[in-house]
Amino acid sequence: MRVLFATSEAYPLIKTGGLADVSGALPKAISQLSTFNGDIKLVMPGYSAVLAKLKNIETIANINVLGETCSILIGKMPDTNLDVIAIKNAALYERAGGPYSDENGKDWLDNALRFGVLSRVASLLCSTNSPLTDWQPDLIQCNDWQTGLTPAYMKLIDNSTTKSIFSIHNLAFQGNFHANWLTRLELPAAHFQINGFEYYEQISFLKAGLFYADQLSTVSPTYAEEIQSESFGFGFQGLLQTRSDDLTGILNGIDIQEWNPETDVHLTKNYSNQRITGKSTVKKMLQQQLGLQIDANAPLLGIVSRLTHQKGLDLLPSIMPQLVNQGCQFVILGSGDKVLEASFTDLAERFPNQVSMNIGYHEHLSHNIMAGSDVFIMPSRFEPCGLNQLYGLAYGTPPIVTPTGGLADSVTDTNSMTFKDNSATGFVLKTVSSASLLVTIQRALETWKSKTDWRRIQKNGMNREVSWAFSAQLYLDLYEKTLLTE
Ligand code: ADP
Repeated sequence: MRVLFATSEAYPLIKTGGLADVSGALPKAISQLSTFNGDIKLVMPGYSAVLAKLKNIETIANINVLGETCSILIGKMPDTNLDVIAIKNAALYERAGGPYSDENGKDWLDNALRFGVLSRVASLLCSTNSPLTDWQPDLIQCNDWQTGLTPAYMKLIDNSTTKSIFSIHNLAFQGNFHANWLTRLELPAAHFQINGFEYYEQISFLKAGLFYADQLSTVSPTYAEEIQSESFGFGFQGLLQTRSDDLTGILNGIDIQEWNPETDVHLTKNYSNQRITGKSTVKKMLQQQLGLQIDANAPLLGIVSRLTHQKGLDLLPSIMPQLVNQGCQFVILGSGDKVLEASFTDLAERFPNQVSMNIGYHEHLSHNIMAGSDVFIMPSRFEPCGLNQLYGLAYGTPPIVTPTGGLADSVTDTNSMTFKDNSATGFVLKTVSSASLLVTIQRALETWKSKTDWRRIQKNGMNREVSWAFSAQLYLDLYEKTLLTE
């Protein structure tokens, strides 16, 4: 089976969030399955970081795509043998700033073209008699709006025999662009309509993926249900309901080569479920490094997140003073909403021994927060899967979460029953509100006071299967099902 995995980011080449983690880990996990007999390659933009990190780069073709001259390169992922096809066009992809936005966080104005080119190259790789290579995949997995036009090009222009899956990592990001882009994107105008890629008079890359792909997947079973409702569907619930039979929810795993407290290279001290003492050393070093009071008896609550409405962290500042007065410490790592950044910064100035606010993106610090904190807070309003709560489980840092999406599918609330049968792994809010968050944190702190009870919850989480092996097999099953579609 030949599989092409189309994505706009993949760890360790380039990462802004969970999509990169999945793109780095899932193809690798599938290629390692004993049940997979085939070849899987990635295709992505040749950002500067990607070109710098890929090994053994060769040029396979030079081609004009949507009016842009591109070199199609092939190289190897560092540390694995996976092939990555990178699109080199310096003007489009080799810029200072992020993959989607400039240094001030403003979306690039030509994102329609940048990801139109990515989508078009991916479709060309899937065409019979491809001008790029004779390696035609049997199946392509497209991920999020950046690759949403691929299934449309395949069906409407190339008449491709390759089957397609469109995977939704977050329905909030839709890639909607002005209809003026139609010609430049070489999209057939006849399909700019409700039964096509039109969405409220705009071109929607996301809708194109949802409408034209042979099968759809998303990153947790609960999110697969939620997005068919008005509250979570962002206007796509009708389309998703009609495609309900083609939609599969598969919970993400974690890359245990990167996220394993026993081997994590970022940690000041490694530890395991059997020998957990190293965790308190990481906590101590973290408190020291961040200028917090060094105190093993002060519960340390950790947060690593994009600071956006989705993540619900605006529920926290109003209840922090009360928790700080009770002796809690907080470490926050993230950036985004400026008002929220300022609230956390104010609290860190008011309580310098107990609150540490770190604005920015720091892989190393994020691992130490995950390991050194006692609990991890993630009160998302919606969460397609979420990875941080899975890292929390694996690191003996029970998560406090809302009952939505992948959080609902991966964290079991602690109560007398779940405690008794050893299924309790964290603490779940009843509603998305500051009051509910406060009550739930207090509940966790009560349990934390008994070290033996806490240890039991940590053990349950650390014993939970969160590696990719299981989910990778579910994707392979979906690949096989997709190959059988008409
Ligand atoms: P999302 O993709 O919605 O941002 P996920 O929980 O699925 O949320 O994945 C977030 C990923 O990005 C995790 O690997 C998390 O550790 C990482 N991350 C988020 N913010 C930061 C940050 N400021 N510094 C380092 N890593 C971060």
